[in-house]
This record gives sequence, C-alpha cells and structure tokens, in this order.
Amino acid sequence: MQTLTIEDLHVKIKAEPKHPEILNGVNLTINTGEVHAIMGPNGTGKSTLEETIMGNPAYEVTQGDIQIDGQSILNLPVDERARAGLFLGMQYPSEIAGVTNAEFIRAAINARRPEDDPMPIMSFLNALDETMATLEMPTDMADRYLNQGFSGGEKKRNEILQLMMIQPSFALLDEIDSGLDIDALRIVAKGVNLMRGENFASLIITHYQRLLDYIVPDVVHVMKGGHIIETGGPELALELEKTGYEHLGEA
Ligand code: ADP
Ligand code: MG
Ligand code: MG
Repeated sequence: MQTLTIEDLHVKIKAEPKHPEILNGVNLTINTGEVHAIMGPNGTGKSTLEETIMGNPAYEVTQGDIQIDGQSILNLPVDERARAGLFLGMQYPSEIAGVTNAEFIRAAINARRPEDDPMPIMSFLNALDETMATLEMPTDMADRYLNQGFSGGEKKRNEILQLMMIQPSFALLDEIDSGLDIDALRIVAKGVNLMRGENFASLIITHYQRLLDYIVPDVVHVMKGGHIIETGGPELALELEKTGYEHLGEA
C-alpha cells in the first residue's frame, strides 16, 4: 500500500504574494485502493490543491507538507513527482502542435521508467490499441497532434487514455466529467473503474453527483473557503445534491 498525505497545507499564488492564501490548512490522507471525491463551490481551491500536489510552480506552499509514504515531495519538480506515482488529469488539457498523442503517451511512460529500460514499442502499441478500444476512441486519434482539434469530450477521454496507459499510483482528476454527454461520461467512468485496485488511488474533483453514480467513491470531502469542512461516505454527495453547499461549515 502507498499513502499520499496532505498535512496542514497552506498555499499562495507565487506571482501575487499579497493575495490571501488560497488553501489555508488542508488535511487529507489517501491510501492506494481508495477513491476520494472532492466537491465544493467554485473558486474554493479544489484545482489549486491538485495543481499544488502535482508541483505546478505557480503555487507556493507556505506551510504544511505533502508526502508519499512519509517522504516529503515538496522539493521535487513535476517530472519527479510523476515518477513518484502522481498523475494529473486536467480540467483544461493543453494542445501541443507537432507531437502526436501516441508519441506524447510513450514519452510520458518512458519518463517514468529507468532510462535504460524503455517500454518495448510493440507492447506499447498493443496496449495503446487495446486501451483505445476500451475507451471507444477512433484509432486515428493516436496519430493526431495532442488534443489539437479534439472536442471537449475527446480531450477528457484522452486524459483517461493517458491515465490507463501510464498506470500511476495516485490519479488527481479535475472535473473530468465537465462537458461530457452521458455516453462519454459512462466511458470515462469505465476507464477510471478499470484502474481501481489495491495499487491505485484517485482524488476526483467534481461538481456533480452524476459522475459519482458511475464512480462510487469510498470517501467524499467538501471543500469551502480553502479547506475541507466535511468528510463522509458516498451519501454525503447525495445529500449535497439536495441541500447545496450554503449551509455547510456554518454550524
Ligand atoms: P476551484 O477549482 O475550487 O474552482 P481554484 O483552485 O481554481 O478553485 O481557485 C481558487 C481561487 O484561487 C480562485 O479565487 C482563483 O481565482 C484563485 N487562483 C487560482 N489560481 C490562480 C492563479 N494562478 N492566479 C491567480 N489566481 C488564482
Ligand atoms: Mg472551478
Ligand atoms: Mg477548479
């Protein structure tokens, strides 16, 4: 088992030192084998939390720690955090001209392996074919430039393709359900559910219970005002759907 620990995390935007803290004391422990969901109003720091865990240099940790198996990762750059098992599926995946989807995924896999032990090309291509079929993606999407001209739904599906190919220990997924129709949502959820197992954990940001009907979380957190104000089981998400966030955290 591996454990991702967020301890009293305080975060500021590096470029705006006078801006108040965005995260002001987040505590979270995620073990492999578990799926956690984070819900909460817009602008409350959910994306900031995932970006900071992944090591986006725009954010500065002013207090607290992020650890994998008890070892702080705060001083590691993004690529080393990826090698340590972290993966971020983004809310707005970027487009890269000149690099095909297949090339990008292969580079991402090999960057996580020892330099003298790249994934054999045939194993890679077979896995890619199989995974794209699972996600009902047309085969030509492998040879198109990364995310260029992909629809919103195709980009999200592509994030799940990367996830399944890279096989990280900890997948941070930011609104992978936004803008998806019901069929795409079902496929994206299928991909995440196939990843579930004792060597995999996920922290899923979502606004909608709808996603959690398909990916049933073990733990649900509510974030408001830069920290987690409530934690519960899947029933918490159902309750939020009825009551909204307004009354929470005011007791
Ligand atoms: P959420 O994902 O919960 O909607 P975010 O983490 O995206 O919230 O944002 C939290 C707050 O921090 C917002 O007020 C947002 O405008 C601000 N913020 C986040 N990142 C930046 C940034 N790079 N520059 C300036 N403000 C930022
Ligand atoms: Mg948002
Ligand atoms: Mg966000």
